[in-house]
Amino acid sequence: MPEPGYLRVADTAAALAALTRYGPSARLIAGGTDLVNLIKEGIERPDVLVDIGRLPLDTVRADGDGLWIGALTTMSAAAGHPELRSGYPAVAEALELSASPQIRNAATIGGNLLQRTRCPYFRAETKLPCNKRQPGSGCAASAGHDRTLAVIGGSDACRACHPSDLAVALVALDAELTTESPRGGRTLPLARLYLLPGDAPERETVLEPDEIIVAVRVPSSPAAARSGYLKVRERASYEFALVSAAVAVETDGALIRDVRIALGGVAPRPWRLYEVERRLVGRELTEPVVREALTSALDEARPLKSNGFKIELARRSTRRALLELRDRGVVRT
Ligand SMILES: Cc1cc2nc3c(=O)[nH]c(=O)nc-3n(C[C@H](O)[C@H](O)[C@H](O)COP(=O)(O)OP(=O)(O)OC[C@H]3O[C@@H](n4cnc5c(N)ncnc54)[C@H](O)[C@@H]3O)c2cc1C
Repeated sequence: MPEPGYLRVADTAAALAALTRYGPSARLIAGGTDLVNLIKEGIERPDVLVDIGRLPLDTVRADGDGLWIGALTTMSAAAGHPELRSGYPAVAEALELSASPQIRNAATIGGNLLQRTRCPYFRAETKLPCNKRQPGSGCAASAGHDRTLAVIGGSDACRACHPSDLAVALVALDAELTTESPRGGRTLPLARLYLLPGDAPERETVLEPDEIIVAVRVPSSPAAARSGYLKVRERASYEFALVSAAVAVETDGALIRDVRIALGGVAPRPWRLYEVERRLVGRELTEPVVREALTSALDEARPLKSNGFKIELARRSTRRALLELRDRGVVRT
C-alpha cells in the first residue's frame, strides 16, 4: 500500500485550502489514534494526510450561557477542566471512562466524535462482507456474532453501533457543533450530526468531506450541572460500552422539572429517550416511578440473535444512573 503524503497546517484557513486542493482523497488527522489504525488495516486509504494537530483550537472556555470546547482539545485536557467537571459532569465522566490515559492524552474531541464503528466485521483484519467498508458487499454480521451490535436504528445493510462515549453525554446535554468549510461556517445540533445507515451505511454523518469541526458548544443548565454517565462494559477498563446511559436531572422540590436521557451501545448513533423524558417530568425521582417510565423504552427495537439482552440492560442502566444521581445527593428530592 503506498504511504499517504503528509502536510502539517497551522490554521483553519490552511486546512480548508488543503482539503480543497487535494479533494476527497485527503483526510484530516488530529490525534491519529483512530485514523492511523484504519489506514494500517486498509480501511481508509487517503492520498494525503492534513495534520490539524497544531491548530489553535485546543482551549475550553465559558461562552455566554455555555461552554466552548475547541475541537483540538485533548480528551484528558477537557476531562480535567474545572468548569466542565462542575457544570457538565456527565461529559467529564464519559471522557474519563473512555479508552486509556495514554490515548486520552493524544486523542481530541473532534476526532472522538468522528471515530468509526467498532463493529468486528468493519474492523476485521481479513476482509469480510461489510457494506460500510465496501458498499454493496453485504453484512457479515447478519449471520455472525452480533452481541455488540445495534438493537435499534440499524438496517438490513448495517447494524453497527456508534462507539463514542463523549457523543452520548453531549447529545443528552443538547450540545452543538461549530464547523467551517470553504462555503462558510455553520452550527449544527450534535443530535443531527449522525446519519442512520439505511441503504448507505458508508455515509455516517452530515458533514461534507471539506468540513472541519472547530468546536463543540454545550449549553449550561441546572440539569447539565446535575448529570452523570454510566457505562457497562465487558471488562472494567479500556473497553467500549456494551450499553451506556447519560442522564441529567433538575428537580423543583420533590418533582422532576427537566430530565435528559441518552443511550450508547444500542444504536448507530447516541439514542435519546424523549418519550421516557416526557413521562418523568412532573413526577418524583423514585424507583417505582423510574421503573414504570422505562418499561416500554426501546420497545421499537429489533434485536438480532444474541443482543436482545441490551434492551433490558439499557433500561436497568438508565434506572441506576438516575437513582445514583439522587442517592449521591446530586439531585435534591
Ligand atoms: C484501544 C482503544 C480503546 C478505545 N476506547 C474508547 C472508548 O472506550 N470510548 C471512546 O469513546 N473511544 C474510545 N476509543 C477511541 C478514541 O477515543 C478515538 O480513537 C479518538 O478519540 C479519536 O481522536 P483522534 O484525535 O485521535 O482522531 P483521529 O484518529 O485523528 O481522527 C479520527 C477521524 O476524525 C476526523 N477528524 C479529526 N478531527 C477532526 C476535525 N476537527 N474536523 C473534522 N474531522 C476531524 C479524522 O479525519 C478522522 O476521520 C478507543 C481507541 C482505542 C485505540
